[in-house]
Amino acid sequence: MEVGPTTHYMMGGVRVDAETQAATVPGLFAAGEVAGGLHGSNRLGGNSLSDLLVFGRRAGLGAAAYAKAQPGEPRVEAAEVGRIAAELVGPFERVQGENPHTVQEALQDMMGTYVGIARTEEDLRTALEAITRAALERRESRGAHTRVEYPDSDKHFGTVNVIVRRQNSAMTVTQEPLPELPAELRRIVEGEV
Ligand SMILES: Cc1cc2nc3c(=O)[nH]c(=O)nc-3n(C[C@H](O)[C@H](O)[C@H](O)COP(=O)(O)OP(=O)(O)OC[C@H]3O[C@@H](n4cnc5c(N)ncnc54)[C@H](O)[C@@H]3O)c2cc1C
Repeated sequence: MEVGPTTHYMMGGVRVDAETQAATVPGLFAAGEVAGGLHGSNRLGGNSLSDLLVFGRRAGLGAAAYAKAQPGEPRVEAAEVGRIAAELVGPFERVQGENPHTVQEALQDMMGTYVGIARTEEDLRTALEAITRAALERRESRGAHTRVEYPDSDKHFGTVNVIVRRQNSAMTVTQEPLPELPAELRRIVEGEV
């Protein structure tokens, strides 16, 4: 049996409204591992599968309410669908240029080598993608993110989300404050319960 480390779970993902699972792109809803913000820095065992049931339902209800609120039936141009479909499958069919499977393998190798649980600034700068930009900004250790140079957790990073956006063709990294934790949850997080 071959044994090796693998990615277990993504803590982070698409920003969504907690009640409806609506993303910031109108009409797009996300639930499950692709949606960020639910589990904080370390998902507890078993919580992903219950997350799918609870937030999958919310996403379904949110998407249905959004669709019902639209005036009339949406019109989709067949030619536009065809163009976008061709653009998506194009890389898999071309005979020249970068092969998507090679890109995926290279990304997997790079993330496995430089962006494991214990990461340093030098490693993160070598593998500079959206995930590593957020990890560089987080100069602390928390949950599944261990910055070797910053072994302690910093209370400040418990009060913000690190947001990576692509604006024009550049990526930006910002910190945005989290809403106040409800008192009953704060008691659990702070270990009183
Ligand atoms: C080894 C391991 C053990 C785990 N053990 C547990 C556990 O014990 N308990 C627990 O709660 N959780 C566990 N998890 C986590 C849990 O399994 C996942 O978080 C959960 O299955 C994610 O479900 P999802 O529907 O959000 O995403 P996924 O199951 O990843 O579904 C996403 C789907 O989208 C498809 N897709 C991707 N891109 C495209 C595209 N461009 N177009 C169309 N389709 C696309 C994919 O093929 C996939 O079918 C474990 C995970 C791993 C890796």
